Amino acid sequence: MKLAALADAESRVFWLDDKAAPAPTPALLGPTTADLAVVGGGYTGLWTALRAKERYPELDVVLLESDTCGSAASGRNGGFCESSLTHGYANGLARWPDEIAALERLGRENLAAIGATIARFEIDCDWQRTGELTVATAPHHLEELAEEAERRDGVRLLDQAEARAEVNSPTYLGALSDPSTALVEPARLAWGLRHACLELGVRIHEHSRVTRMHGRSVSTETGTVRAERIALATNAFPSLLKRLRLFTVPVYDLVILTEPLSTIQLNAIGWQHRQGISDASNLFHYYRLTRDDRILWGGYTPLYHFGSRIDPRFEQRQHIHELLARHFFTTFPQLEDLHFTHRWGGVIDTSTRFCAFFGTAHSGKIAYALGYTGLGVAATRFGADVMLDLLYAEDTDRTRLRMVRERPTPFPPEPIRSAAIHLTRWSMSRADTHAGKRNLWLRTLDRLGLGFDF
Ligand SMILES: Cc1cc2nc3c(=O)[nH]c(=O)nc-3n(C[C@H](O)[C@H](O)[C@H](O)COP(=O)(O)OP(=O)(O)OC[C@H]3O[C@@H](n4cnc5c(N)ncnc54)[C@H](O)[C@@H]3O)c2cc1C
Repeated sequence: MKLAALADAESRVFWLDDKAAPAPTPALLGPTTADLAVVGGGYTGLWTALRAKERYPELDVVLLESDTCGSAASGRNGGFCESSLTHGYANGLARWPDEIAALERLGRENLAAIGATIARFEIDCDWQRTGELTVATAPHHLEELAEEAERRDGVRLLDQAEARAEVNSPTYLGALSDPSTALVEPARLAWGLRHACLELGVRIHEHSRVTRMHGRSVSTETGTVRAERIALATNAFPSLLKRLRLFTVPVYDLVILTEPLSTIQLNAIGWQHRQGISDASNLFHYYRLTRDDRILWGGYTPLYHFGSRIDPRFEQRQHIHELLARHFFTTFPQLEDLHFTHRWGGVIDTSTRFCAFFGTAHSGKIAYALGYTGLGVAATRFGADVMLDLLYAEDTDRTRLRMVRERPTPFPPEPIRSAAIHLTRWSMSRADTHAGKRNLWLRTLDRLGLGFDF
């Protein structure tokens, strides 16, 4: 047990704890009008505002954010910027087999466009196309990864020796290598997009929580925006469209971060290509190196709180952070002397189909994109474009997708919701320790196309 390693870790988000954090913009004061009002200043909202100005430069765009841009999931995530729009290839293939080729293509184009935007606006967010390894840590993972390697273009299966030559963990039995994934510094990306929006003339008001939407007006405590169109980008937070509230649940994902590794420590684990890594379990870990050679380590225990409660206190869970630290040392026993400096958590918007869904209200004048689950760093840009397609009645490759037109099944109301989520999580954990065998509950959910993920 290495819990001393966590004793001095600060309860702060490493990425947000950065002197590059911009000073907040003034809150909304009084009444104003706009062509487009965007509610929410995470990636979804920022991409929507930015893409609106790129696609329709004449639009007057206002963005309202309750806290500061990037302060929620967008500023505290793992920074894995993946091409998948469907929370992984397997999920997309299972749900939309006829569209998977188009979804993969659009995902690759989306990722390339993110890289191009970062370059064009010179966003200093350590964007690197390092690729990603999905590692097998149990024999049944090998079969699953081999199956995916056979079906999917551009990925490569590594045997145990090849996987350990990339990153040296005694737990690895093999890996799937996907060279397309980029890693990014999440808060820096959000702040860069915010800066780009301001440069293009978007009016951003931070500390401006929208408390009411009436017709095409949105109001905060201190002001109102009357807009031609509204884009809702509020992710896991309660939607201003009440009918959407059963379609996602807020789930907490927790993270720990080490001190910088010395050269000796780095040499002990290899990792020269600095790929993002996740394991192939149902309850998986994800981890990566930072610019200054720390290891960010997260995942494994997605936490749901009864009644879909959101509370900053849920970002700190001693026993979960300790469990994550123990798993870290199992993966990298060579790093037994390493200490953790930061621990935090954040909330994701899980949907029963694990990827974003889209739609409109108020005769097409209000659009929403939510439900990214734990894979929204790249997919939010696609979601932003879909919202603009819908708001401005554009017929595109995106809007023709069933993936875009179909809605997920809602979660049941409480107390069934909580019981179902806990049973699902327990069953996923059991499958992980029983050679991947899915019990009757998981098989039933699979048949219905339902589930719980992060
Ligand atoms: C710990 C963690 C790790 C993750 N790791 C990854 C990863 O490695 N790769 C990946 O692809 N995804 C990851 N994700 C998911 C990813 O971060 C999200 O999918 C993505 O950031 C969603 O962006 P968003 O803009 O939709 O949501 P958010 O970033 O949550 O933004 C929503 C914003 O809306 C604001 N808001 C809400 N209600 C209102 C209101 N009424 N008025 C005004 N503003 C409002 C909020 O303050 C918030 O800033 C992770 C998430 C977490 C929490």
